[in-house]
Amino acid sequence: MKKILILGGTGEAVSLAEQFRDQLDISVIYSLAGRTRSPTLPDCEIRRGGFGGVEGLTRFLRENDIAAVIDATHPYAKQMASNALHATTETSLPYYKFLRPAWLEPEQAPWIRVSSADEAAEKIQGRFGRVFLSSGLNDVAAFAALTEVWFLVRSIEEPSPPIFLPNFSHIKARGPFNEDGERALFLDHKIDILVSKNSGGSATQAKLHAAQALSIPVIMIDRPPVTGGTVFDDQALLIKQVRQTI
Ligand code: NAP
Repeated sequence: MKKILILGGTGEAVSLAEQFRDQLDISVIYSLAGRTRSPTLPDCEIRRGGFGGVEGLTRFLRENDIAAVIDATHPYAKQMASNALHATTETSLPYYKFLRPAWLEPEQAPWIRVSSADEAAEKIQGRFGRVFLSSGLNDVAAFAALTEVWFLVRSIEEPSPPIFLPNFSHIKARGPFNEDGERALFLDHKIDILVSKNSGGSATQAKLHAAQALSIPVIMIDRPPVTGGTVFDDQALLIKQVRQTI
């Protein structure tokens, strides 16, 4: 029986884990960072929490006799991706990266594209007053200097540590969201700009459609570059490739 490690934390990772688990000759360890209090989990062996950098992951791969690593973390989880690349290089293991397809920029309503949350904050300063910050809690600190701006912050989890922004409201909500609901949110809070990551997938895309319908500009924080691994955006193809390799 071959054992594979799936680096998770996304819906696609759960789906991949369950599909691999159903293959009789493969067993799956599903790993998550352990930050979400009630994550969706596949029905297979689960481990939680960091490995302890490249060294810790390399040790884990050896001690658990892992045959391949599938990194299905979020497109913005770049530290984990880098660690996985280095640890699989060190152990000469196949490393596959699943990335859900990115959202496409609408030709008729181009995004303001930036490469970091800091750059997003620069674009807002002095131009916008009411921001829907939907880019997750990791980067909120980048907006702390914008004392004249009010933020609507939405996240799946209760913020911990607390949000440190001069003026804000927080909503705890988990997608999928629909366009009508997102429009109402924009209008109720008099939002004049949306900040988003290009997460892809359908669960949170409605905010982009709502912003476009209301002619509200979008600051899109671009995905970090992919640094390595064999990249797939199709789960069936990835599974086929893994099966042929291990
Ligand atoms: P990150 O910056 O790339 O990773 C930071 C550290 O967290 C890693 O070095 C690793 O610790 C640990 N870690 C991350 N993913 C892990 C996993 N699947 N299993 C075990 N340890 C993991 O990651 P992040 O952006 O903070 O994201 C953390 C988790 O949330 C990921 O699983 C990701 O899929 C999910 N997520 C992220 C976003 C986002 O916008 N970044 C959005 C939705 C979900 P060690 O170095 O100690 O091994």
